Amino acid sequence: MINTAPTDLDRVAGFTIPSRHARGRVARLGPVLDRILSAHAYPPVIEKLLAEALTLTALLGATLKGGQGQMTLQAQAPGAIVNLLVCDYKDGELRGYVQFDAERLSQLGKNPTLNALCAKGYLAVTFDQVTTKERYQGIVPLDARSIGAAAEQYFLQSEQIPSLIRLGTRRDAQGKLIAGGLFLQHLPEGEVGRERLHVRLDHPEWQHVEALATTMGADELADAGIPLENLVWRLFNEEPEVRLMGGTELTRGCRCDAAYISQVLAKFPAEERAEMADEDGVISVDCAFCSTKFPLKLTDFVSQPL
Ligand SMILES: [Zn+2]
Repeated sequence: MINTAPTDLDRVAGFTIPSRHARGRVARLGPVLDRILSAHAYPPVIEKLLAEALTLTALLGATLKGGQGQMTLQAQAPGAIVNLLVCDYKDGELRGYVQFDAERLSQLGKNPTLNALCAKGYLAVTFDQVTTKERYQGIVPLDARSIGAAAEQYFLQSEQIPSLIRLGTRRDAQGKLIAGGLFLQHLPEGEVGRERLHVRLDHPEWQHVEALATTMGADELADAGIPLENLVWRLFNEEPEVRLMGGTELTRGCRCDAAYISQVLAKFPAEERAEMADEDGVISVDCAFCSTKFPLKLTDFVSQPL
């Protein structure tokens, strides 16, 4: 038998600190992250960026009402080194991919800022709530030092909620990437954020929990050996009460399917489909998220109604 130390991976857990009107989430990604990354051959800088974005997606997605709905994070920066990054969360399922210019990336240092990667870009955060059928979308510039800092701006500007986001990554002994994150928000009683007229960043109860949370280091966040609840305890053990809200298992999920892709292609005029096909009459479609290949024969479209 192999003796392995217990690990807490691929999970997001919630907590509240009632006396401070604060709520939070902690998340850590291990094998799920590895499965997502292994569908691509990204250089380390892009792997780290996507790992942080996926952790952020898990933290934000876990705040969906009733655990249902979808949360999408999309960074777009036309003409930049990273021109597109998309991640989404649905029922604990995560997926994500990045489009980038490998040539220009290789000319940057090992630790480029977000701004160097996504110059003049913006971040769109979308919550699709199933229970209320509402969609909230906010867009903020990607001029922050990190994707976590950009998301803090989103909550401040679009939702008027003071928020703190910490993200950290590290490689384990096998060289696999582990990512962890902490998300903390101030929601004074009776306020849900979206109806607020102004934000108070200098509220004493928020300043207190924010100061504690900023002491959380990347190494702790991404340490698979520390249970998520212990991270919360380390920060807030002097508070009169910290309520744990249980956790959600995270999985790698992709919703691509051959039937859907076939339906989309069927809507194109036959001549355009013919232009997409190779000399054997096969249109090759790759899922951007999971790299699954869907070869579709031109001859299979003949009988389909337009
Ligand atoms: Zn897919």
